[in-house]
Amino acid sequence: MKWDVVIGLEVHVQLNTKTKAFCACSTQYGAEPNTQVCPVCLGYPGALPVLNEELVRSAVAAGIATHSKIRTKSQFSRKNYFYPDLPKGYQISQYDDPICYDGYVEIENEGKKKKIGLIRIHMEEDSGKSLHSESGTLIDLNRSGVPLLEIVSQPEIHSPQEAYAYLTTIKQRLRYTGISNCNMEEGSLRCDANISLKPAGSPAFGTRTELKNLNSFRNVERALTFEINRQKELLESGGTITQATLLWDEQKQETRQMRGKEESHDYRYFPEPDLPPVLITEDFIQNLRMQLPEMPDLRKERFIDKYDMLEDDAAVLTNEKEIADYFENLVKLFPNNVKLARHWVQGEILRILKEQNLSAGQIPIKASHLAELLQFVDRQDITPQTGKAVLDEMCATGKSAAIIIDEKALMKIADSGELSTIIDKIIQNSPKESARYRSGKIQLLAYFIGQVMKATKGQADQGITRKLLIEKLGPVTEG
Ligand SMILES: [Zn+2]
Repeated sequence: MKWDVVIGLEVHVQLNTKTKAFCACSTQYGAEPNTQVCPVCLGYPGALPVLNEELVRSAVAAGIATHSKIRTKSQFSRKNYFYPDLPKGYQISQYDDPICYDGYVEIENEGKKKKIGLIRIHMEEDSGKSLHSESGTLIDLNRSGVPLLEIVSQPEIHSPQEAYAYLTTIKQRLRYTGISNCNMEEGSLRCDANISLKPAGSPAFGTRTELKNLNSFRNVERALTFEINRQKELLESGGTITQATLLWDEQKQETRQMRGKEESHDYRYFPEPDLPPVLITEDFIQNLRMQLPEMPDLRKERFIDKYDMLEDDAAVLTNEKEIADYFENLVKLFPNNVKLARHWVQGEILRILKEQNLSAGQIPIKASHLAELLQFVDRQDITPQTGKAVLDEMCATGKSAAIIIDEKALMKIADSGELSTIIDKIIQNSPKESARYRSGKIQLLAYFIGQVMKATKGQADQGITRKLLIEKLGPVTEG
């Protein structure tokens, strides 16, 4: 039997505001437990919340980045539930009339583009964190009150691969706005998934399950794949799906059901009486729209046109805003050869980031320094191979390209007199190879070029070396 897979995703994004959603406590990650707390985020009776304007600004920015409609009037609600790490006994969230609604993002999966609708984006606060150990459970309330956005997709995702593409797109766009680093390892991006199956083409939705505890994009993909197969097998053997909340067990690579009590929800939402409605003006939205950077899809298109590059190359360069900014800076400083600049950012800069385990925002070479190095490469003063070694040296020492090239005397040997002497010596020392070359084994030219490069530590000019070698090795007698 053929099945349609229906997936909806809820993404929680932790914002990088300096202070919490409703108090002035710091949001800095990694502080000693319970050092970033106050009566408001500890839920003391009588302490009153004050809305952080940055939270509203971030929510509107996320709305703009996802083509959402934005409400000029929205309100907060209390979501009531009992949990040890929720000191007030309720979470301040939005229920009716969230700040953003009816958005979409365009995803690309297996070369096909597709729009995924967003039902809503709302503002809320985070809970604290329970730390379980053998001696008991401890609670850290540093995270209590940290601002979050919840982004809810339409159930328009039809495979684990589409879910992965959707998350990647959301992450990329939000990172461009600068409102969050969307780092899943630090918990600044979290994801829950709803999933159900229905007979292919059927208009009615099947019973859905909810997957929680998905702490990496790959785990989302794996958990969904597992759950699709589990539901399929159950349905095809005549069983029925029961609505349930499932946890992904990373060790066992399977989903398991939460205890019944944990999933009985009756949140009894009601409007938050301690906070007035959130009012924003059209001007506020327009101003923010103007301030936001060009979004990755538009930037990619512009790179293709302006810098005459292939779509794949433009995608690599615009994947992270910092890399795209770096490339454009470099091209401004070194407009001579855009293709060379692209090649070095894509090849060498990304290699260095990967090798040194750095993020896109931590490129260890200033664009102006790379521009200087590329002048040498472009003028063919040094070989590309030497250029790469110089770049590594620049990373390690912080010295400029000119100084390293000068200190190590790395300028390319293009002087035929000097090369001549080196080549004569090599031919002299390789009588067997020379004879075989002359008797028709012309592939040996590569061997000689290799020897010259070895002798000059890669600094010999390839073209001149080749020309001199052919001259000096003498005529080849065929067969
Ligand atoms: Zn506080």
